[in-house]
Amino acid sequence: MMPDWVPLSGAAGVEWLAFINKPNITNSNAYLIRTAGEVILIDVGSDPRQADAINAALRGCAGSGRKLIVLISHCHFDHIGAIDKLDFTSDMEAIIAIEASGANAIEGYDREQTLAYLYPPVPLPRARFGARLFGDTDLPFQASTDELQLGPDLSLPRVSIPLAGGLVLEVLHTPGHSPCSLSLRLGSLLFVADIAAGATPGLVGLAGWNQPALVRSLAALERLLEVDGGIVICAAGHGRLMDPAAMVKALNTARCSAEGLQGVCEKNDARITALKAFALEVLSESKQLFAALAGQVFATHHWLTQLGDEEEAERLLKVLDSDEIEAALADMEAFFDRFNANTDPDLGLVLKASATMQALGQRLREPANLDLIRPTMLRRAISLLDIFLETVRGLDLSIDAAPAEIPVLLAEVVSELDAWSNFDASAAFDAVEDGESFHRFMLARLAAVSAPQKISLDIQPGIPAAAIHGERFKVVVITLLETLSGGGQRQLDVSVLGAGGTVLVRFRGTPALQASELPDLRRKILERLLGAGVSLEFAAGAVEIKVPALAYAEV
Ligand SMILES: [Zn+2]
Repeated sequence: MMPDWVPLSGAAGVEWLAFINKPNITNSNAYLIRTAGEVILIDVGSDPRQADAINAALRGCAGSGRKLIVLISHCHFDHIGAIDKLDFTSDMEAIIAIEASGANAIEGYDREQTLAYLYPPVPLPRARFGARLFGDTDLPFQASTDELQLGPDLSLPRVSIPLAGGLVLEVLHTPGHSPCSLSLRLGSLLFVADIAAGATPGLVGLAGWNQPALVRSLAALERLLEVDGGIVICAAGHGRLMDPAAMVKALNTARCSAEGLQGVCEKNDARITALKAFALEVLSESKQLFAALAGQVFATHHWLTQLGDEEEAERLLKVLDSDEIEAALADMEAFFDRFNANTDPDLGLVLKASATMQALGQRLREPANLDLIRPTMLRRAISLLDIFLETVRGLDLSIDAAPAEIPVLLAEVVSELDAWSNFDASAAFDAVEDGESFHRFMLARLAAVSAPQKISLDIQPGIPAAAIHGERFKVVVITLLETLSGGGQRQLDVSVLGAGGTVLVRFRGTPALQASELPDLRRKILERLLGAGVSLEFAAGAVEIKVPALAYAEV
């Protein structure tokens, strides 16, 4: 349906019309602004139907003697794909403006910089740009170029274009998401294109992405919103309009993640292949984990129904909506198949997986779920989702190891597992009187099913500190213990030895461990989680983790 022209506050006599889509990576939003003397189009998108709707709106402005300025926020295909579908046959004089390097990318059919290579084999549109901003000094309109000062060491290059009625369209150069990214200010409107999405997994590290530039642009726009009370509406290249407070929050969140993205490798072909292999391992692991989590929910529901508390059973089903988990799992399954079948990098697929992982992570972080699911399993799931998202962001997978006392970490793991396995029968008698505590007692009992029955720790004296990421080490040990006990191990013996510059952690079982009890895919993931230089292998009836020891002098 055709959106309506509405007045743009802060600019007398100006109306605007927004073409807003649900966020997707194939077609951007587009905006039309109408002053007494100009029609300004911000982005086109790549959907020909959107171009048709824009054409219809432009026809409505024909015969008014207005000039048309088309401003392209940056050269990505989803913003410009349908530019050749625009109908310039109306009587309007039209100028298409873009940042100079973006013009070069489109005119040079650069499939890398325009990200056209991520989409099915579509041709890049032909376009001729009348105004190459921040490059040509000779622009087809009266414009002045300067720096917008936002603080002692913060400024943005700016082109100011005077419009009819004394209005000024300010174009700001805000690189980072792409070298050619522009933001715009007119009246009460601030348009930031894709900057606020610049730290989204999947978009990070693509051609033209630049971390220091992104952090700077985000900080500058945040500052602009803080100091400029005249901005009332904020618009982006994708998704809905926001008020300034919501935009400040989005920019701030993006900046905080972007600041942690130093040294992200560019997503070249080799990198994408490596990422894909790791992502597939993580996806396969999370599929199993979520199936187990869903199993726990069903089991709990079943037992509560048996206990005659159908109301509570239903409440629990709602807390961790099993339909939702099932849908998410099916989604992930479909994603998995498509990912497997795909030989080219497919950004849409990766973004989809990221969104699923983020949604599942949010579900799992809801405090109400904590007494429903064994916390160790929850932590495994959450760390897997986090690692997946980091992987898609293109972070280097090397892990910050720090000096750690492995015996201390193991003792923490054992006491955590014990807390969920040992029941005080007298607590049940006390709890029976009180419905609420009885539930908690039953839930704790259900949640503890399949934790190892007995774990013994045997630690050689004088174990040196080792270089390892402590939290990840604990997640790996818990996963191992749960995997092995799930395979039927009643008793697990964990011993720690220091030998030849290595701290060796050995897991033995009763009955003796079989190699098949630790599937190779899970072994590989666990080994990766531990970081470079650490091995996790099945050797002679035992699982062994070998961590490089630190000399005492280094600690
Ligand atoms: Zn973009």
